[in-house]
Amino acid sequence: MKRWNGWGEESIKYPISHFAVQYLNDRLGMGRRIPDSSLESALDSVPASKLPPHPLIQTGSFERLSHARGHSLPDWIALRSGRIETFPDGVAYPASNLEIRELFEYARQNGSRIIPYGGGTSVVGHINPLTANEPNLTIDLSRVKELIDCNQTDRLAVFGAGIKGPELESHLNKLGYTLGHFPQSFEYSTLGGWIVTRSSGQQSYYYGRIEDLFCGGLPASAAGPDVRQFVLGSEGRFGIITRATVRIQPLPEIEQFYGIFFPSWSSGVNALRDIAQARLGASMLRLSDPTETESTLALSGKENVVKWAKRALNIMGFGPERSMLVFGITGNRKEFSKIKSQVMELAKKHGSSLAINQIGRLWSKSRFLTPYLRNTLWALGYAVDTLETALPWSAVEGCASALLNSLTKPLEKNGEKVLAFAHLSHVYPNGASIYVTYLFRRTNDPDGTLERWKTLKHAASQVIINYKGTISHQHGVGSDHADYLLYEKGQIGLDMVRAIQKSLDPDGLLNPGKLLL
Ligand SMILES: Cc1cc2nc3c(=O)[nH]c(=O)nc-3n(C[C@H](O)[C@H](O)[C@H](O)COP(=O)(O)OP(=O)(O)OC[C@H]3O[C@@H](n4cnc5c(N)ncnc54)[C@H](O)[C@@H]3O)c2cc1C
Repeated sequence: MKRWNGWGEESIKYPISHFAVQYLNDRLGMGRRIPDSSLESALDSVPASKLPPHPLIQTGSFERLSHARGHSLPDWIALRSGRIETFPDGVAYPASNLEIRELFEYARQNGSRIIPYGGGTSVVGHINPLTANEPNLTIDLSRVKELIDCNQTDRLAVFGAGIKGPELESHLNKLGYTLGHFPQSFEYSTLGGWIVTRSSGQQSYYYGRIEDLFCGGLPASAAGPDVRQFVLGSEGRFGIITRATVRIQPLPEIEQFYGIFFPSWSSGVNALRDIAQARLGASMLRLSDPTETESTLALSGKENVVKWAKRALNIMGFGPERSMLVFGITGNRKEFSKIKSQVMELAKKHGSSLAINQIGRLWSKSRFLTPYLRNTLWALGYAVDTLETALPWSAVEGCASALLNSLTKPLEKNGEKVLAFAHLSHVYPNGASIYVTYLFRRTNDPDGTLERWKTLKHAASQVIINYKGTISHQHGVGSDHADYLLYEKGQIGLDMVRAIQKSLDPDGLLNPGKLLL
């Protein structure tokens, strides 16, 4: 069964060693293991529904609770503490366009707002009902999930938008194809959700971001503005996507991942820039800063293995400032060795030497398991959050360092530490995304944990704005980033987005408060 207040299946655990717990104690102090609110009390807090009965709409407490929040840290704090202030008044699972139209008509008649719902994996407050003033109807797309067409000549496939990652890939793999879109939330997130949040998969360097994969059927067009761009990033404000055409590729003949080390973060960043600008055909590049390199080692290994690995790395000349790069090569056998040696040649110029197969295998094995670690850390008393941006290469190192500073400083006055680290995971010839993870101790009062999050999030967002980075490279805007959008789009840009929203949804039914305030 899926966890109602955490990530993934109940049966999947992510235990960590005593050594890893000690590592966290040393960095942050002993976590506060405050018990979570029970499912029963969360269910008791669900108020009566404001919606009149309708055969397509379920109003049971569990349905409404399980669609009330996504996976941002504020969402977790709300769910784990039982302080969930707003719930959808009903949840519908339509199976056809006709049923969706019927639900829109019903919402219009009853003054209800509509929240489109894919997999509920949003980390920026996309699917939360924001106000209890009007009734909120959540439309869950999970029944709209068929493979409608797969045209192998054109390499285009059409799917129902509610299909989740594993099912979509399974359909295509059976025919010898892949979409190649693998966000870390792959298990639960949906095609429609990916499109409207402009999602980016772990191998986007090779397969492309979702905006490269989502297409209207034409190979290219110069017929005026591309209306698909209105849909990408629309975050449930412009309408509901029920089906989408995507570009597909034959399954790769070979795929391997490797780990390599650089003597410092700077040398790794320079190597990555060289690789991206040479447009080498790697499929995945993820460079961890020294703190992430150390934390990954500490959280994943047993004490003696970690000690042995550190000793070996020191002997090889990779001291405490070492930065780990995991890279992948995907494609055909003929090209494989050539690409690997091209990557290694550039890496060598920046002080790296050996490609370690085992590290790549370990990364690949746990690529969709890592989110389960968040459950473990929460139980140990630590809150975890991530944030991300993208900027030109010239600003990457400065911004990464300012971001980490902005996260570690603010809680010092409370005598609290923050463990913050970063990686570059999506690289382009002109720049890269910076993905930051930060951990801090929960407080006894959940409101205190939320206050700490607000302080840290605001401080980091200010840094992103000062560096003129994007407020989100892949997670989207939702409600958590809506305040910061003006800095990126400018007033005219925002007015254009607002004008489109008003023309497509004149009654303002859809997902109020997300994307646009
Ligand atoms: C552990 C974890 C790892 C993650 N890793 C990544 C990652 O690697 N890359 C990445 O890009 N993101 C990642 N995310 C963020 C999240 O998974 C993405 O934003 C994802 O695209 C959301 O898809 P979803 O189907 O879950 O959408 P939901 O969370 O259900 O909804 C998100 C938004 O889309 C709207 N929506 C959903 N379906 C439709 C539809 N059919 N029509 C219209 N509007 C719709 C909703 O109204 C909402 O505004 C991660 C999240 C978690 C929790």
